[in-house]
Amino acid sequence: MSAPDPALVDDLVVANHILYAEGVVDGFGHISVRHGERGNRFLLARSMAPALVAPGDIMEFDLEGNVQGADTRAPYLERFIHGAIYKTRPDVMAVVHSHSPSVIPFGVTGGTLRPIYHMSGFLGGGAPIFEIRDTGGMTDMLIRDNALGDALARTLGPGAVALMRGHGSVAVGGSIQQVVYRAIYTEMNARLQMEAARLGTISFLAPEEARLAAAMNDKVLGRPWELWKRKVMLATARERAPARSRSRK
Ligand SMILES: [Zn+2]
Repeated sequence: MSAPDPALVDDLVVANHILYAEGVVDGFGHISVRHGERGNRFLLARSMAPALVAPGDIMEFDLEGNVQGADTRAPYLERFIHGAIYKTRPDVMAVVHSHSPSVIPFGVTGGTLRPIYHMSGFLGGGAPIFEIRDTGGMTDMLIRDNALGDALARTLGPGAVALMRGHGSVAVGGSIQQVVYRAIYTEMNARLQMEAARLGTISFLAPEEARLAAAMNDKVLGRPWELWKRKVMLATARERAPARSRSRK
């Protein structure tokens, strides 16, 4: 088992910190990336708060969610979400699972999350909602095995985002940068859609407008990525600064 590309691991670590800084994940939620050289493997942090993830915390899994190598650290319980999606979606290179708060109301009311503005054109005709009872009956709502992961992947279908009733959502992308963008703007769209619904009837993007807007934004993913990355790096530097100034006194 050769070590994954350090640049890919670094991006995954930064993505964990960005998702926390932008309010997508808190103590819970996770992001994975498909292994650069071995497409039937993915990388995901050990079970821990995303904001605290460092390169040494990244573990490797096969698409059934089995830990690779002699790694005995505790993995995320819901790692099956990631493997199941990589199995059915060869185009997907990165997956975010979160409980981002503004999305939750849409999963429980059947009110469809649809693109309210160009930034979230990737929502297309609206995000499907995964109903865990259809596969698991009465559960603790978590994707604890491959049967539940496979069912979630079926609900996602060819889309970018699926909501999970009473739990959260999942976003997928062709790169870490794209999935981070989608996870952040899914949360943003949910917030804006709720605001707009209070004012009156919403005129959503038409499917063709959504498609064109998404294609445009996909060309400039590097711009917000660099901004989000800089923000978390400055925050890290600030955290370390007081210790240094104290030691000078
Ligand atoms: Zn969850």
